[in-house]
This record gives sequence, structure tokens and C-alpha cells, in this order.
Amino acid sequence: MELYCLGIESTADDFAVGITTFNGKILANIISAYVPMEGGIHPRKAARHHARVASRVIEESLKNAGIKPRNLSIIAFSQGPGLGPCLRTGATVARTLASYLGIPLVGVNHCVAHIEIGKLKTDVEDPVTLYVSGGNTIVSAFDSGRYRVFGETLDIALGNCLDVFAREAGLHQSVGEPFGAVVERYAAKGKRLIPLPYTVKGMDMSFSGLLTAAISLLKRGEHKLEDLCYSLQETVFSMVTEVTERALAHTEKEEVLLTGGVAANKRLQSMIRSMAEEHDAEFCVMPKEFAVDNGAMIAWTGVLAYKYGVVTPIEESVVKLKWRLEEVEVLWVK
Ligand code: AMP
Ligand code: MG
Repeated sequence: MELYCLGIESTADDFAVGITTFNGKILANIISAYVPMEGGIHPRKAARHHARVASRVIEESLKNAGIKPRNLSIIAFSQGPGLGPCLRTGATVARTLASYLGIPLVGVNHCVAHIEIGKLKTDVEDPVTLYVSGGNTIVSAFDSGRYRVFGETLDIALGNCLDVFAREAGLHQSVGEPFGAVVERYAAKGKRLIPLPYTVKGMDMSFSGLLTAAISLLKRGEHKLEDLCYSLQETVFSMVTEVTERALAHTEKEEVLLTGGVAANKRLQSMIRSMAEEHDAEFCVMPKEFAVDNGAMIAWTGVLAYKYGVVTPIEESVVKLKWRLEEVEVLWVK
């Protein structure tokens, strides 16, 4: 008999549900994104969106998977890191489902899930991972039982940096187009590299000073928007490439995995690819459906953990807003 896990993702602006089998077959992966009318993500408004769409997204996932709630063996949910109100909404839905169905609940670390779905959906087995999204910027690799953080942002995430710049510049999005993709479109037409603060401290990166500098150049109006987007991309992508390269050289891993929403960027892909090639490492980029926040990654990581005896009793299922990647013992990786 096939066993199934339903996973709920709600760390930020997306409410997503995925269903996988215990053997790693993905049967459903549905994402409902909260799109603010203006400005950035307001945590409580996003949480309200999640509560509103939850039952429809769950129903649709079960329908896509062709199973009934009683066929589920476990419920997994993203327990952190993320925005409090959003996480709590997902956790409440997960607890309700698990207790109603009388099945185990498994709390999953969102960052671990991004890596595990990468290993499931691409050829990589033991990569250096560059995870760049709206909320995270992390260079990591497995060592001694955990995914260690080799480098990360000291302030805002790379995706957030691109988004805020695009908003400040009033860049026009076509329907459903993320701001990062708009910056990419403008950058493709840029030619002149304008110096911007390049901040790598040890293995960590800082994007906020650079963002402020880019915005003040923008407001001065002396440069073409295309050149500013081009320069912004070249600078921030060089920073993450440098840190990823040093992690690769240090760990001597043979694969590089690029994931998170920003992984869709062709310029970033080409920089990481050529860096990996110089080190004779294989380069893999996650397909977009599984690079962005999704429920399948939570379901699959829930399965991996559950097989190693991890369950999260309701009384321990409180969300962890700042749950770090390396705090998780990944028992299933040797
Ligand atoms: P996530 O947080 O994983 O859902 O990813 C969302 C982030 O990815 C946002 O900051 C987007 O602007 C960014 N993003 C999406 N597409 C692209 C792209 N083509 N280039 C750069 N950033 C992108
Ligand atoms: Mg993410």
C-alpha cells in the first residue's frame, strides 16, 4: 500500500500545499501567492490570505493527487524560519488536520526543505547549495550530520534587495511577473557598469548599504535605469558567486545547486555555472516550480524525517521564527 504525506508551506507570502508518496513521487503541488496591492509583504495581511485560501488549496491538492484525506499517513508543515503570523496560520491548519485525522505531525525546517527537494528533483547528491529568495540568502553544504551555513546575508535577502529597488524605481510589472524578473529584463539592456558598494565580510554578505546607494543614484537621475539594473545585478550576483566559490573550494564538493526564487535569473545561473565549471563541479538549477516556496518540498522533507522517527507532538509544534538551517540534525543523510 502506498503511503502519502501532505505538506503545508506558509513561511511568507505563499500558502502552498504538496502531496508526495513515501517513495518521493510528487502527486500535487499547489501554490497560492499573496499579492499586495502596493508595497511589500505585510505579515498579517499575508496570514489572512493564507487562512482564506487554505481549505481550497488543500482540497485541490487532494483532488490532483487523486486521494482522500483518510489516505494520508502524516502531515508536514513548515515550522520556520519565517514571518510569525504566516507561520502560525499554516501550523494551525496542519495541527487541525493531523488531530482530526489522528495521524502524526512533522515540523519541517523551510531551508532544509529547499535543499532536500533539490536532491529529489535534480541529479545532485551532496551539493554546495546557493539558496537565494525573497527572504533568504544562504550558502550551505552538508558536513557532520547537518547542513552547515558557510555564508549568509547579514541584513536583507538578495531577492528583497532586487524587489525594493524595482519598487523604488517604479518598474512596471506585467501580470504575475516578479520584481526580480523585471530587474533582469532591464539589466539585459544595460551596458555601463556603475560602481556600487560590494560588501563581502569573511563569508557573509551585506546588501542593505548597496541598496541604499543604488536608490540614491536612481533618485539623482544621472544614470539610465537599464545601466543601474545591470550594475545592481552584476554586483550582487558577483558577491554570492564569490562566497559560493569559496565554500566549494573549501568543502571540495563536486556539485553546486542553485535554488530559491532568484534562481530563475539567467545571469545568475550563468555566473554560478561558469564558476562551477572552473572547479570541475556539476551545476544544477532547480526548475522554477520547486525553486520557489512550495508544499511538495515540505511534504518530502517530512517523509525523510518521519522515516527516521521524527514526529512533532502538538505541544511542541509552536513555530520557530528564527530556526536556523544548521540547528537541524539531518539524520537521513550519511
Ligand atoms: P521566493 O522567496 O523563493 O518565493 O522567491 C521570490 C523572490 O525571487 C522575489 O524576490 C523575486 O523578485 C525573485 N525572483 C523571481 N524571479 C526572478 C528573476 N528572474 N531574477 C531575479 N529574481 C527573481
Ligand atoms: Mg524560500
